[in-house]
Amino acid sequence: MFWLAVASDDAPAAAQVLHDEERASMTDEQRRAADAVNALGEDDNTCPACFGTIPRGEARCPECGLRFS
Ligand SMILES: [Zn+2]
Repeated sequence: MFWLAVASDDAPAAAQVLHDEERASMTDEQRRAADAVNALGEDDNTCPACFGTIPRGEARCPECGLRFS
């Protein structure tokens, strides 16, 4: 983790670059987990730990017990 100071107008672009570089260095498994985390908040969530389906409103994964807050 590191910090990058940019003018506020450039922040979205900088974040996108960092995101792309981060993804490029990830394994496929890590990318799946990252996508699952990004999808949290949709009707049915995908657990980032076991990729099971977490029903809407559930606070923990019924597959592996991972808790969300
Ligand atoms: Zn799970």
